[in-house]
Amino acid sequence: MVEVVEILYPSGSRPDRPPLAAGKTARLSEAEHRQNAHLVRELTSLMRVSQALNEAKDLGTILSIVLDQALSLVGSGEGSIILIDPPNGDRLWIVAERGLGPQAVEAFNNRPVHIHEGSFGRVLSSGRIVEVADTSTDPDSLRGVGSQATEVTNIPLMTQRGPIGLIAVNGLPRDETVRHMLTILAGIAAVAIDKERLHQETTARLAEVSTLYTLATQITTSLSLNSVLNSIVSILRMTLDCRACSIFLIDARGEYLQLEAASGPSVAWKGIARLRIGEGISGQAIAEQRSIYVPDTHQEPNFIFFDPQIRSLVVVPLIVRNKAIGTLSIDATQPNAFDEEVRLLAIAAAQAAVAIENAELYESLQRSYRELEHAFDELRRLDDMKSELIQNVSHELRTPLTFIKGYVELLRDGQLGPLLDEQKAAINIVADKTGVLCRLVDDIIGMLQADTEQLHQAPVCLTDIGHAATQAAQASAMEAGLDLIDEIPKELPLVLGDSRRLGQVFDNLLQNAIKFSDPGGTITVRMRDEGTRLRAEVQDTGIGIAADQLSRIFDRFYQIDGSTTRRYGGTGLGLAIVKQIVETHGGTVGVESELKRGSLFFFTIPIAPMGYR
Ligand code: ADP
Repeated sequence: MVEVVEILYPSGSRPDRPPLAAGKTARLSEAEHRQNAHLVRELTSLMRVSQALNEAKDLGTILSIVLDQALSLVGSGEGSIILIDPPNGDRLWIVAERGLGPQAVEAFNNRPVHIHEGSFGRVLSSGRIVEVADTSTDPDSLRGVGSQATEVTNIPLMTQRGPIGLIAVNGLPRDETVRHMLTILAGIAAVAIDKERLHQETTARLAEVSTLYTLATQITTSLSLNSVLNSIVSILRMTLDCRACSIFLIDARGEYLQLEAASGPSVAWKGIARLRIGEGISGQAIAEQRSIYVPDTHQEPNFIFFDPQIRSLVVVPLIVRNKAIGTLSIDATQPNAFDEEVRLLAIAAAQAAVAIENAELYESLQRSYRELEHAFDELRRLDDMKSELIQNVSHELRTPLTFIKGYVELLRDGQLGPLLDEQKAAINIVADKTGVLCRLVDDIIGMLQADTEQLHQAPVCLTDIGHAATQAAQASAMEAGLDLIDEIPKELPLVLGDSRRLGQVFDNLLQNAIKFSDPGGTITVRMRDEGTRLRAEVQDTGIGIAADQLSRIFDRFYQIDGSTTRRYGGTGLGLAIVKQIVETHGGTVGVESELKRGSLFFFTIPIAPMGYR
């Protein structure tokens, strides 16, 4: 129940009032009658007010009805409704006025005035009407805000949750009835205002949720950075009803914040506006990783203006995995334009940051993919060119080499006349090197042929091919001081293949084993049935291969020691040919090796299907 707690009247100035209690005389009865009639009129008008408040569609109408009724009760033309905003905050705002004028309102609202100040504090903390008969003698009267009135009646607006504001009327209530009427009016008004504010709050929350939902669906459906950025700024500008919404992103070198997307007039600054990191409000938001609200840019001495029209600004950092990648901001032409928007923008920024990061990742993946594709095409082109060149050169070399080889053999065999011992020694070396040269050219041509050549597939006995190759290598092994052991079992299933080509696989592996082993070593050839395939192995006790080289030795022209001064001859094609032949047979090749301990090369060939055996 609202009651008067404090009436500040200068001594002797309290106006005489008619007594409220009814007297017994006829004259008093008449007065009482008049009083009652007055009371009925006031109550009727309060009921009308209550009905009007129920029907009112917005807060402005509610406030007008309440203020007009309060003024009419006191018989005043000047007053205001002052609300606590936000509802649980500590600031008072004039939200409706009569007779004060915009300047007085601005002075009050900009001061700012807090709930504990002056007579407002007394009204709100006590929940009772406070009448100030002479503001000049009121010890805590606020100066420079509101009206110049000397008499003021403050009526608190109380709800179950506490005070929500007050009605301030210039003038004093004529009598107790008016005080009661004001009390009743304030009660009805508080409920109506509270209800409307709750309604507004709910509507705002719903709008927020719907904004965030639209934002989430829009920005997750596209992976193009540009369309993600544009969706964010246009959705937020539309729903937050601001002058402009902008996104600044940190550039690749991490030096500047660059305006990447904007909706509203700021779009004109796209590609132009940039801030050094750490500069301005955006720089501060990035550095401190927090939202910053500038309610009035004119009060901000360090504000960097792109557009002098901007009076309010909210900047929220875009953060991904604890790292700021840019800012999201909204602005308005009037001061104090934002409030709830700050919180909403922060939530939107969190969503936006993830979407931007995803889009950037996707774009960089696409770029890398295109670059790789380009590099691959280039490599393939170079590889084709190299193969063509090698093929041409090899074919051009083969004919003269055949002549050289033929004449050298004729000379060496003495068919063109007897040779001196020195000439014999020299011609032997020439014959030897010519042989190496011919093998090299044959290898190259053989490899290039294997690429295109059709295999002569037939059921063949891999054990026979293995025995034959091992047998043929015995002479060179012996010459190199190596023990070559044939452990191939006698009977194994047939495989489907080209015996000449499979023989070449054994030859190349055996040649390598001999070449890369020191005298005194052992080479062992094995074979076994693995159910669906045969596995052949050539193991040596030679120099071995380092682990990091193992994956490369099957590449064409790859040699671990590729220097011109290398100890072992060769072209780096032997294993590439092995791999190519085995794979065209549907088999696999592999190697196990340890440096200085030797190597084990193996290959598998599928066993011929039943019908072929
Ligand atoms: P190359 O003509 O050089 O022998 P290969 O393709 O046959 O060419 O072999 C490629 C490289 O693999 C060789 O240069 C050598 O460094 C290494 N390599 C091949 N076989 C062996 C082996 N049995 N032991 C050690 N290293 C080997």
